[in-house]
Amino acid sequence: MSQQFDVVVIGGGPGGYVAAIRAAQLGFATACIDAFKNPEGQPSLGGTCLNVGCIPSKALLQSSENFHAVQHDFAKHGISVEGAQMDVAKMLERKNGIIAKNAGGIAFLFKKNKVANIHGLGALKGRQGDKWVIEVSNDGAVVDTLEATHVIVATGSNPRQLPGLPTDNQLVLDNAGALALTAVPKRLGIIGAGVIGLEMGSVWKRLGAEVTVLEAMPTFLAAADQQIAKEAFKTLTKDTGLDIKLGVKIGEVKTGADSVSVSYELNGEATTTEFDKLIVSIGRIPNTQGLGAEAVGLALDERGFVVVDDHCRTNLPNVWAIGDVVRGPMLAHKASEEGVAVAERLAGQKPHVDFATIPWVIYTSPEIAWVGKTEEQLKAEGVEYKKGTSSFAANGRALGLGQAQGMVKLLACAKTDRILGVHMIGPMVSELISEAVVAMEFKASSEDIARIVHAHPTLSEVTHEAALAADKRALHG
Ligand code: FAD
Repeated sequence: MSQQFDVVVIGGGPGGYVAAIRAAQLGFATACIDAFKNPEGQPSLGGTCLNVGCIPSKALLQSSENFHAVQHDFAKHGISVEGAQMDVAKMLERKNGIIAKNAGGIAFLFKKNKVANIHGLGALKGRQGDKWVIEVSNDGAVVDTLEATHVIVATGSNPRQLPGLPTDNQLVLDNAGALALTAVPKRLGIIGAGVIGLEMGSVWKRLGAEVTVLEAMPTFLAAADQQIAKEAFKTLTKDTGLDIKLGVKIGEVKTGADSVSVSYELNGEATTTEFDKLIVSIGRIPNTQGLGAEAVGLALDERGFVVVDDHCRTNLPNVWAIGDVVRGPMLAHKASEEGVAVAERLAGQKPHVDFATIPWVIYTSPEIAWVGKTEEQLKAEGVEYKKGTSSFAANGRALGLGQAQGMVKLLACAKTDRILGVHMIGPMVSELISEAVVAMEFKASSEDIARIVHAHPTLSEVTHEAALAADKRALHG
């Protein structure tokens, strides 16, 4: 006899586990099936984000920044530390501890909310009356069969591989391998200067690797506002010391016994460079492997994403899909919000995820964050806008932190003053961007931010000053 549920969620990442908790809170008998196993072969909830993505990358960024600060910044505070050493094994142990703590936290929340926590690969098998049948298998053997009125597909994404170059996570690494290196490579190559490449490059550079980043696009961070992107390129190359090459045409990549050689063309010149490790971070592809999509006729688009409407409904009755496996930005918070929205829709509510105010963050040092339209987008759309910029250089708090690089740029409609986009590079802008997100969600004007009292001394005063500047009332500009 199959186990009966109202809702079965397939995938336990930030999309799936949040959807499952919300569905259970709303009174649905809910199960979440997740296939992820940690390197010890144990189930570990939280998906890519917690196990091999957002959280471990931030843990390593912090360790590497601390090491860098001891070596380069502490002396300025009058603190002398001699012979600082990096223990990579200890750093990885800390990172793994954070993952285990949070994965345990999700399992606890499942128990608390009475979500059935089922480990294995979930596959859609078809309909039994008005229920969906989902088979759960483990290492190829079917271990469970569930029936559910609603299915939420939240199977996430996998790293895209270079054609003909499979990752072995020994010499050629994907995100999982890049987060688990047991020693600092002397020469690290990275193909792809996206968020993951830049964050991983920053970690290993700060720990002592020579890092070369090879990017096919001629434009750096093409999705970001280009004034911010230019500033980021300058600091990441000059201060962090990443060797970023843009407009590269990758040729042959050959793996040897303990190194990888990458041939590429740059400005018409052919070069071959030898690396001890190579990270391939050229984007991610939706994951529908083993889901049974074809068997039940779940529509996928030409790039393999599950096709959904604005409310995450697929082409099949009562089958929903959220997160990285569907269109839209591949971000954990987008996945979670879609999960909440679907669960609430099942309960008859009318939730809405506003794609126009989803924040983007890159956790390099300095951090980069933005929400809304870039100047390039506004120009292309023919929107008349005004802008205000302010830098962290004279901000007292930033100077105290010793991180006074970067700026905030605010773009507002020339006619209505409504905020259209906010772009930041600087200390803790991952936190500062929330003010801009709230403002935009509430359809605020730049004058609203300019008239709100910001605490002194705080980094948020730079946002305040940028809003004043948009209104030509800058006090410190
Ligand atoms: P996932 O997190 O991928 O979870 C899907 C889960 O489903 C996995 O556990 C998978 O094993 C399981 N699964 C797949 N198929 C099945 C099946 N058939 N049956 C059962 N289980 C299945 N985003 C941010 O917002 N901020 C960041 O700072 C950030 N940093 C990142 C850093 C790195 C290195 C990487 C790789 C990604 C990062 N991301 C970040 C992106 C973020 O991880 C994803 O957007 C997010 O994890 C997507 O969530 P999801 O729930 O859709 O899928």
